[in-house]
Amino acid sequence: MANDNNGASSRMGIGGLLRRLAPYVLPYKWLLAATLLLTLAGSLMAQVNAVVLDRAVDSINALLHREEGAAVAGAAAALLAVVSAVLLGKELLSALATFGQRFFGEKIRIRVSRDLSLRVVDRILQFRMAFFSQDGNEPGKLQTRIDRGIMSLSNTVKNFFIDILPLFTSAVLALALMYAANVYVGLVATAIIPVYFWITAVQGRRMKGWRHRVFGTHQQLSNGILNIIESMGVIKSFNREQVEAAKQAALQDKSTGLQMQTRRISFLYDGLKTFVEQIGTVLIIILTAYLVLTGYPGMTIGKIMYHVMLFSNVSAPIRQLHRIYDDLNDALVYAEGFFGLLDADGEVEESGAWKGDGRVRGCFEMKNVEFTYPGGTHALRDMSLVIEPGRTTALVGLSGAGKSTIVNLLDKFYSPDSGSITLDGVPLQEWDTRTLRDNVGLVLQKNHIFSGTVEDNIRYGCPDATREQVEEAARKAFIYDQVAALPDGFQTNALQLSGGQQQRVAIARMFLKDPPVIFLDEPTASLDAIATEQIRNSIDAIKQGRTVVVISHNIGQIIDADTLYVLDTGHCVQHGSPQEVYRQGGLYKEIFDASTRSMNVDKIVASVG
Ligand code: ADP
Repeated sequence: MANDNNGASSRMGIGGLLRRLAPYVLPYKWLLAATLLLTLAGSLMAQVNAVVLDRAVDSINALLHREEGAAVAGAAAALLAVVSAVLLGKELLSALATFGQRFFGEKIRIRVSRDLSLRVVDRILQFRMAFFSQDGNEPGKLQTRIDRGIMSLSNTVKNFFIDILPLFTSAVLALALMYAANVYVGLVATAIIPVYFWITAVQGRRMKGWRHRVFGTHQQLSNGILNIIESMGVIKSFNREQVEAAKQAALQDKSTGLQMQTRRISFLYDGLKTFVEQIGTVLIIILTAYLVLTGYPGMTIGKIMYHVMLFSNVSAPIRQLHRIYDDLNDALVYAEGFFGLLDADGEVEESGAWKGDGRVRGCFEMKNVEFTYPGGTHALRDMSLVIEPGRTTALVGLSGAGKSTIVNLLDKFYSPDSGSITLDGVPLQEWDTRTLRDNVGLVLQKNHIFSGTVEDNIRYGCPDATREQVEEAARKAFIYDQVAALPDGFQTNALQLSGGQQQRVAIARMFLKDPPVIFLDEPTASLDAIATEQIRNSIDAIKQGRTVVVISHNIGQIIDADTLYVLDTGHCVQHGSPQEVYRQGGLYKEIFDASTRSMNVDKIVASVG
């Protein structure tokens, strides 16, 4: 499950990580080939200094032992010219190779990063609503999981092509040259390598637990900041700024402590590795000096420099090993969370194949439905109801009774735990989800308005609608005059509209969609009396010939319904026509009477009279 990936121990190994990344990297085979070729060229150049120094030292040494002075000066000048030309030429080629190799490597990284983002966005758009209600899938946490996943995976790609590959190729070449020149020196250089690996592995093991904790606090921090921004109004109105700041400070303290701890361990082991590297260099110097002094065949003074320089090429990647290892370990933790999202097949919204003739009638039947939210709230218990096509059904009940949950189930946002739901006689799960949603218009208490123009917001579900159709929808939703009067008219940013205006933009969106089934979940709860009345009129107009399910605390909207279902803690306690249900007494009568009392009808009548 995607859920437990947030800071889970890395079950994915480095091999697994590379296997998962391969399908994102391999499509760029030309870039790959160019990068690999240039890497090899760069690695060959990296050995040139050692070879040149070896030859130069030996040649200079030979010159020093010559006797005729004039010829020495000429030979020395020629030697220096050759050395300079070779070194400069090599630097030039090396700079070109490094540039090309980095450029192509970076190109691969950027493309892989883009492909990973596209893939994950595609994926979460397919997830069922239940996924987003689960613990650990809050927006801030999901965002961190995705951002860090993409960042560390693309870093892995970068590390591989820009650091690991060139450094290791150069190390292998250098080691091969050392062996070719002298097996004993090669063996000493090789003997140091396992020590580095061992220290790096111990360091990695010690750091792992800390890194998970750092990751956990990062998630909490970014989720905390998001919460603060989202709740700014409440925080300010309750004067809780200091409390919220203190909460963040506590988290920051924890995060700082953890980061310091990881750095401390890291620096300790880095020091140890530098020490071992120096020991390696000292051993090479002692051994090569000994071999030169004892006149070992092929060993000259130049070879001392040669081996020391080559050994620094061998140890270069090893010096970087812990950083690469750290990055890889980070990538393992974050990759698990990230690939967990891509692998969460169980979270993908299911769709049946039934499309009927593409248009639903709107006869919903719910039988003995039980439903529990992923968080554990048992929201519906043995719930049965019938929504008759072409009629208006109202769902009534106190807050939390389960009314919105019914709409969520009828729109297939969630599936019931047990019991059955049919639409036009076909089980809901067999319906093609797109067809179903094409036929259903949903208006919520707080509708989502996207950042963009009013026109784009109205057109959201029907991108091909003409300007005239958009304006007509706005008229039906009683928002046309207000929008037209704005300086930018329909091009105004919809987020600048008031809550009531935004609500009518959302209703206009539904008018444009013109679906045969309409779910209204407290559509006028956030509107003023005039807007409520206008919307009521427009909703009355589109009720004709459509199936409407309305949830409202507004008795005026309920009383118009053909059928009422009264819910109490997820269960239907009464149903029938508004008059019948009122006569039965019970919960509906209580709600109805309380509602009229709260409206102070007597005084209203007296003041009007
Ligand atoms: P109503 O619409 O009647 O006010 P709801 O259907 O919204 O009631 O909620 C029914 C119960 O389910 C409530 O206890 C509510 O807290 C819970 N609930 C609603 N939505 C979710 C959700 N996304 N995740 C978990 N619990 C939820």
